[in-house]
Amino acid sequence: MAVAPGSLASRTARPEAFADEAAGRGGQGPVVGVLALQGAFREHVRALEACGARTRLVRLPGELEGLEGLVIPGGESTTMTMLMERMGLLEPVREAVTGGLPTLGTCAGMILLARRITDGLPGQVGFGVLDVVVRRNGYGRQVDSFEAELEVAGLDTPFHGVFIRAPVVEEVGGAEVLARLDGRPVAVRQGRAVGLAFHPELSGDLRLHGQFLRLVEGARRT
Ligand code: GLN
Repeated sequence: MAVAPGSLASRTARPEAFADEAAGRGGQGPVVGVLALQGAFREHVRALEACGARTRLVRLPGELEGLEGLVIPGGESTTMTMLMERMGLLEPVREAVTGGLPTLGTCAGMILLARRITDGLPGQVGFGVLDVVVRRNGYGRQVDSFEAELEVAGLDTPFHGVFIRAPVVEEVGGAEVLARLDGRPVAVRQGRAVGLAFHPELSGDLRLHGQFLRLVEGARRT
């Protein structure tokens, strides 16, 4: 039976058509991977697709192939590192990220991008693409989780930041600070790597995912 493009039957036969449709740009949006071993990855997928990206969950090394950007979500950086090691992903992700793949790391994801981690597991090392020193769970027990309005570079009104056992950025070397809270950096960028101490995927505000996609699209043209 011939099936008209876009009909339900053709989509069923080619499930990725749904992803193209979600992209809202006829499938021309950049392909962004979301590391999906653990943590808050589904909300990132939703936010990226709402901004026009095509998304791919990354659980195996081969799923890094052809990506134009990568999101490393929040969760637990030590667990995520261990799972990446187990899945043979640690070195391929390191190579991709240090090789210039535009990468957004949120919370635990930012820890994984850092040059140095304090209060990590013995031997826990970041990919080093953000020249920052981060302290895991640095906001302390009393303020494990909190929310705050943030002035972020490039946004004309405050962004509602959701912080969950967030890391503290203790030192900044070559990275550019995009936002601070009480004087401490909570959003940083260096080249094609962006690190956020909070969870932009939980605030219902797509502007930071949009900003990241513009970085991805900029890298596409170079
Ligand atoms: N505390 C977590 C870690 O050390 C990060 C928390 C988060 O991603 N919400 O990895």
